[in-house]
Amino acid sequence: MRKLSVEDVKVQGKRVLLRVDFNVPLEEGKILDDTRIRAALPTIRYLVERKARVVLISHLGRPKGEAKPELRLDPVAARLAELLGQPVRKLGQVVGGEVRDAVDRLGEGQVLMLENVRFEKGEEKNDPALSRRLAETADLFVNDAFGAAHRAHASTAGVAEYIPAVAGLLMQKEIEVLTRCLHNPARPLVAILGGAKISDKINVLRRFLELADALLIGGGMANTFLAARGFDLGDSLYERALTAEAQAIAALSENGRCRLHLPVDLVVTPELKTGGSFKVVLPGAVGGGWKAVDIGPDTVQEYTRVIAGAGMIVWNGPLGVFEIEPFHRGTEAIARAVAGSRAFSVVGGGDVVAALETLGLAGEISFISTGGGATLEFWEGKELPGIAVLKDKT
Ligand code: ADP
Ligand code: MG
Repeated sequence: MRKLSVEDVKVQGKRVLLRVDFNVPLEEGKILDDTRIRAALPTIRYLVERKARVVLISHLGRPKGEAKPELRLDPVAARLAELLGQPVRKLGQVVGGEVRDAVDRLGEGQVLMLENVRFEKGEEKNDPALSRRLAETADLFVNDAFGAAHRAHASTAGVAEYIPAVAGLLMQKEIEVLTRCLHNPARPLVAILGGAKISDKINVLRRFLELADALLIGGGMANTFLAARGFDLGDSLYERALTAEAQAIAALSENGRCRLHLPVDLVVTPELKTGGSFKVVLPGAVGGGWKAVDIGPDTVQEYTRVIAGAGMIVWNGPLGVFEIEPFHRGTEAIARAVAGSRAFSVVGGGDVVAALETLGLAGEISFISTGGGATLEFWEGKELPGIAVLKDKT
């Protein structure tokens, strides 16, 4: 279902409550990475240029319903003001008299930021009392916080019960691109899935097994598939309890359109540490005392060939323990292949995006989703509460 966006409604003079995801990494009051603030700029600028009165609301960290001084949004407001080139007044409250007064006095094209919404106990409980109070000082709710859209909280979903709700430009783009991955991808559609565990991603695996033309598996997840084939994985990370599930998934691929690729060689190490010794072995030759921590060169070659022929690529999860050198090599090689391919590439998930940024390749990807859990749930086909509440396009 298509959703209305800020582009479909009149915003001039309106008091717009704009939910953003400004959950940035902070260290002693310093913002380590402002990607999330930058991602919301198009919507904020759009509203400012059209003379809306913009009231920003976001969460930051996990204050669990209490005001935590180190999780105040002041540094975020300061950074936003710099990026926007105009003042951003930051309030000390989420709701209440100060907010009412400030919104009353807010001029057209001006920007206000409320305090961290998770300081309110009602936020994560999706308490209607909080939702109503948030809605009181606004004419329109705009949700641009895709990264929080899988949560049914007062500021992501509840507030939409009381005022009209539409998507921001980032939210709109996320919905458009992630939907395209599922519904009309350029073919062949190649899905790359890695990361630590199968258990986190069973439904995404099943979904792409139905939809994709090829599924390339790496990371700890591949170990579980290989164990299901009867290989002895030594001391590798894998999920014994999920080998039956892995077997069932692999069996599905035998009758379906999708070709399931598992590693044909593995990088193994006796000790997971920087610069640790390693060797490359066949999946059947890991041996006791050794851990499989990356895909091997023959696997890289096979996967690279599949990627080179792709029409669209979706990728979640690193293919090895990329945080520890030299076990980043498989993930790096695949990242280069994806970056170099002509296919439209979509990458989502926390760790794999971090890996791409470390490698300096994030800019070569067609679309980097700002969601971790939200992206996975979207791909699973779940309805995300923060999207479900937005008005449908008729
Ligand atoms: P994402 O955040 O991209 O969805 P995950 O959170 O599922 O990815 O998994 C990332 C983690 O998986 C990383 O910390 C990485 O070190 C770990 N990992 C990848 N391959 C292996 C492996 N073979 N053995 C152990 N851990 C692995
Ligand atoms: Mg992760």
